[in-house]
Amino acid sequence: MNELWQSTLDALRARVGEKSFETWFSRLRLYEAGPNRLELRVPNRFFKEWFENNYLEEVRSTVCELAQCEYQVELGVEDTPEVPRLREPEPEPVDAPAMPAAAPPPPPKLHPRYRFESFIKGSSNELAASAALAVADEPGQRFNPLFIYGGVGLGKTHLLQAVGHSLHERNPNQRIVYLSAERFMNDFVTAVRNNAFDAFRARYRDDCDCLLVDDIQFIAGRDRTMDEFFHVFNSLYEAGKQIVISADRVPADMVGMEARLTSRLNWGLVADVQAPDLETRIAIVEQKAERDKVTIDRETARTIAEQVNSNVRDLEGALVRVSAYADLRGRTLDSDFVREALGTKKKATPTIVTVEAVQKAVAGHFRVRVAELKGRRRHQAIARPRMIAMYLSRELSGASFPEIGLRFGGRDHSTVISACRRIESISQQDENISAAVDSLRDRLTGNA
Ligand code: ADP
Ligand code: MG
Repeated sequence: MNELWQSTLDALRARVGEKSFETWFSRLRLYEAGPNRLELRVPNRFFKEWFENNYLEEVRSTVCELAQCEYQVELGVEDTPEVPRLREPEPEPVDAPAMPAAAPPPPPKLHPRYRFESFIKGSSNELAASAALAVADEPGQRFNPLFIYGGVGLGKTHLLQAVGHSLHERNPNQRIVYLSAERFMNDFVTAVRNNAFDAFRARYRDDCDCLLVDDIQFIAGRDRTMDEFFHVFNSLYEAGKQIVISADRVPADMVGMEARLTSRLNWGLVADVQAPDLETRIAIVEQKAERDKVTIDRETARTIAEQVNSNVRDLEGALVRVSAYADLRGRTLDSDFVREALGTKKKATPTIVTVEAVQKAVAGHFRVRVAELKGRRRHQAIARPRMIAMYLSRELSGASFPEIGLRFGGRDHSTVISACRRIESISQQDENISAAVDSLRDRLTGNA
């Protein structure tokens, strides 16, 4: 392989971290290397779009840095589709004699509220949510399997079931199976014990058009279940049937998971769900309040969202709790009541940190000018401080990504997102950077 490209990959691996690298960079192929130009190939259209929005600029600047000159980096989509296409259904003869229609399969067992309509998208879950929608649009075609991972209460089950609802609504004749990996194991064990393996096989292999398996990490280390799941996976996959899987971590991190399964789980798209940012949390509180017919103003929703930043399930719990308390005590549900009920006192003087204040502090710390932070130069001596300033702006001012982009010389929100990610990963490896970030944060919030 081209040397420049190899060293670019090495640099990027260190920068973006192992997980993102696996997901996004291990599937890039250097297609053509010309003077001052690299052309890369990616597996599909969706991948291309995501990559362009999130990593392309970073790739380009890394190449330029290493080559010490301007480089163009272009992306193309691989010609051969990565998964077998579903066969078109045979057209129905137009005036076929009336036949007794086969009874549609029983509807999938899904939580009625876990639908796309009630799922709030934000930067924390954007990839997983868009991929789930794409899967519901074109099952078995673009991302197979779709693998969604992330911590507890961040919407994995919601997304899996939303795919199920959506597919069922579009075609009630499709047989959609949703279940937890634990249930899969229990069914398997029961089938073996009762000699009812044919029925088991029919349910999960032959009579299944889409399989949604939640919390797959459960079967890691359970050899016979993994083995059976492997066969189920293969036969569905070969038939072009959609498979969606969730887990609490990436396939490679599942201790005890068979290598051949891990590799299959990585075949399609691996997408994460992260803890939601403040704006997304506010939107979620507002939506749940509306659903539960709780009247709540923006400020109060914001206060709840500020108090609970762990996961969406806790956020829902907090809303239910405060609205129940308010009812019981005959109090109005406002910010003060929320602070009281959730057990945190209002800060005497809340620190309001503006983007401008962050820019000034960062510029001072690194001895660059604010204008340079907003400018276009990519030299590391400026690019680093600029990214740190974006990162701290996001953390301390609560401004949205697009707004921060605007305040940094009209950059796109995706640039801000990737800057924030990079600082997160760099500060895990580079103590100087993490110390600088910490001391700037302390200074800005008055904790120094
Ligand atoms: P997980 O399976 O990742 O542990 P769930 O899908 O069970 O999480 O989500 C926990 C709760 O939070 C559910 O009630 C779900 O509807 C809700 N939830 C999670 N993410 C979102 C979101 N982005 N928008 C709306 N509700 C969400
Ligand atoms: Mg779940």
